[in-house]
Amino acid sequence: MKKVELLSPAGNYEKLETVYHYGADAAYIGGKILNLRAFSKNFEDEELEKAVKLARKLQKKLFVTLNAIPHNSELELLPDYVNYLESLNVDGVIVADLGVFNLVKRNSNLPLIISTQASNTNWASVAMWRDLGAKRAILARELSLNEISEIREKVPDIEIEVFIHGAMCVSISGRCLLSNYLTGRDANRGECTQPCRWKYYLMEEKRPGEYFPVVEDERGTYIMNSKDLCTIDFLDKIIETGVDSLKIEGRIKSSYYAGVTTKVYRQAIDSYYNKEYTKELLDSLKKELESVSHREYTSGFYFHKPDKNSQNYKTSSYVRNYKFVGKIIDKISKDQYIVDVRNKIEKGEELEIVTKKGRNTKVLLDQIVNLEDGCLIGSANPNQKIILKVDNSLDVGDLIRVPNKGGSNQID
Ligand code: SF4
Repeated sequence: MKKVELLSPAGNYEKLETVYHYGADAAYIGGKILNLRAFSKNFEDEELEKAVKLARKLQKKLFVTLNAIPHNSELELLPDYVNYLESLNVDGVIVADLGVFNLVKRNSNLPLIISTQASNTNWASVAMWRDLGAKRAILARELSLNEISEIREKVPDIEIEVFIHGAMCVSISGRCLLSNYLTGRDANRGECTQPCRWKYYLMEEKRPGEYFPVVEDERGTYIMNSKDLCTIDFLDKIIETGVDSLKIEGRIKSSYYAGVTTKVYRQAIDSYYNKEYTKELLDSLKKELESVSHREYTSGFYFHKPDKNSQNYKTSSYVRNYKFVGKIIDKISKDQYIVDVRNKIEKGEELEIVTKKGRNTKVLLDQIVNLEDGCLIGSANPNQKIILKVDNSLDVGDLIRVPNKGGSNQID
């Protein structure tokens, strides 16, 4: 049986290393043009070349997004850029616009992947993209399991990719003018300010500055504030629709987010094929998904159209149960590792190492050795390098976290 692909987001080179480290089969990144994540640190050419080398070394796949909706002037650079991507041998480009599709096809033999922005909600549009030469279609998020199965059945000869985790849009897969209208920043050009999550008031035109609450309950209203998609409970059902690739959303999320979500879904996919997809495992994986910054979770459109339970009415804040504090960047000996500190840590704290596979390792930080001078210190600050002594074997690339003091934090 062909195993489904786990596809993770990588907003920069470090995130790419991290998602490969934690088991992604493939990653998607933005290049320097036509890329729908203006706020992620996208890959300039040199870094892109490094990224492709890393993918080849690890025998992983790498896809490049060209999925913004372009205007005429933005097409000028496209043919050369497409040639360049082909010369690098990337595994495919993700496009949303028919014109971009055509230009990529005319200028290269790059595999074409149709973005979710193209709103593929039915088998006929997927079949049309196949007939035009697309290798893969990413389905719109607004589909049920039954609809996905039907598309798979009716169009067997194209790869199908679906989203399994991450932020949802209240509009059809990001085709939304809300951000553009309210802030001048266009979601279709990667600049969404997510006004669908905001808290809204009513203002009468002759009473500027007087805000009348729009009340759904005592907390006010968040009329368009979707919960985040999480499919860990029914990943088996998604795999059984016969799709080829499972995608995690979030190129602008942190390395920690990308790493932990990738590890969790890697474990879920492997356990499905090993027939170990048990309730106990799912409970522990769900707990792990609570550890990353998220809004409350929803099953999206997979079982039914979203209802009142799919919205978050209390807050648009994120829940953060853990703080990412560092990354293992080198191994000195079997029990000594160099840690790049990312958030302040103090002597006496219990660190949790997010290991590459399986259970995480806990380490009491009873001493902190500064790498630069070998001196013992009471605390370490971001960008400082320290030596960590442990009993267990760890991997370079493992991330380190500590629980957020005071339990679950709601942070905007
Ligand atoms: S404002 Fe909300 S619904 Fe619109 S594109 Fe942005 S995230 Fe999606």
